[in-house]
Amino acid sequence: MEKIKMTTPLVEMDGDEMTRILWADIKKELLEPFVDLKTEYYDLGLPERERTHDQVTVDSAQATKKYGVAVKCATITPNAQRVEEYKLSQMWKSPNGTIRAILDGTVFRAPIMVKGISPVVKNWRKPITIARHAYGDVYKNSEFQPKGPGKAELVFTAADGTQSRQTIFEFTGPGVLQGQYNTDASITSFAHACFQYALDVKQDLWFATKDTISKQYDHRFKDIFQAIFDAEYKEKFDKAGIEYFYTLIDDAVARVIRSEGGFIWACKNYDGDVMSDMVSTAFGSLAMMTSVLVSPDGNYEYEAAHGTVTRHYYKYLKGEETSTNPMATIFAWSGALRKRGELDGIPALVDFADRLEKASIAVIESGVMTKDLAGLWEGESPAQAVNSLDFLKAIRARLEA
Ligand code: NAP
Ligand code: MG
Repeated sequence: MEKIKMTTPLVEMDGDEMTRILWADIKKELLEPFVDLKTEYYDLGLPERERTHDQVTVDSAQATKKYGVAVKCATITPNAQRVEEYKLSQMWKSPNGTIRAILDGTVFRAPIMVKGISPVVKNWRKPITIARHAYGDVYKNSEFQPKGPGKAELVFTAADGTQSRQTIFEFTGPGVLQGQYNTDASITSFAHACFQYALDVKQDLWFATKDTISKQYDHRFKDIFQAIFDAEYKEKFDKAGIEYFYTLIDDAVARVIRSEGGFIWACKNYDGDVMSDMVSTAFGSLAMMTSVLVSPDGNYEYEAAHGTVTRHYYKYLKGEETSTNPMATIFAWSGALRKRGELDGIPALVDFADRLEKASIAVIESGVMTKDLAGLWEGESPAQAVNSLDFLKAIRARLEA
């Protein structure tokens, strides 16, 4: 069988621990036999980040800007224990944070649904994609703890030196205080990414904030979304038969639970952090959740939503068999290959990505799956829990058939 040819390299970001092992196995079993893989390889594994003083992470993000599509393996975000374990010269920053800061953009997370594993919420029949604004708000806050009575004020000094000032609160005793910000530029690019993505996947877009209480801050988000929608997307949405819908965050939460799914839910940074964990848990498992970062200038970085699965890796190092779920990592590759195929006009590559996803889902639906899913299985015949490699081999057999 002739292998599918690629014209532009994918930016390949390798990672750490159990997912690094899966990464190599996925390439060997599911990609290289079928595709003449063309990648520009960056090793974001912690030892290489240490050796290059994290330059490799920056280089990989720059390469993503150059080529437009990247696929990333899960990576360790060092903490004190990792500094010790890997003898690090510094507590290197989260690679995802570094990449996001360079690419900017919005993170879209969507569950992989299979028959036989049903969401906790009975009426969710289609996936719900969370679009998380990945900039500012409480993640870039300034905090302060007044130790006793005093007046807290919000002061803004304009570039020309003029000041505006308003009282936040007159403290009569100790308390807490916080300042947050966002920028029109970032909110604008968030809005474009959401509207563009909705058109890409032809799904309705929901957006919610607390604009009734936050009459300036949250209201600014609402106004920017609406202005951009009216000016640039309304006609395109009408043509695609999809809707943009704004509501209050508490109303959104209630509607999401009662819905049947099948839409994109755009969330401010904190809401997206919290709601994506709720949605992914309700859909079954983090191992069945895909994630893509879409930048305002149209770059895409695909990854799994879970981490490096450290606990399984330590078992693997001891020579024990592991049953780690590779689905989200497979879908990161299929997502990246499909996008590359679309951008370069290679239908065979797009078709391969579709077939890879279908084969992976079909294997699970046939009752063969990793351990994490076996416990959730409600299919007719009992689940057959297999190790990671046997699971990949079962997918390969289907792809070949
Ligand atoms: P994790 O790697 O997501 O794993 C947490 C637990 O979830 C695992 O121990 C496992 O449960 C289960 N799990 C996650 N993915 C699974 C899979 N594919 N198959 C089967 N089970 C799976 O999170 P963590 O242990 O908190 O973090 C480990 C490392 O990953 C940390 O160094 C962290 O910095 C990094 N991390 C990276 C990213 C990223 O690169 N995007 C994201 C999050 C965390 P059981 O042990 O019960 O089987
Ligand atoms: Mg979180």
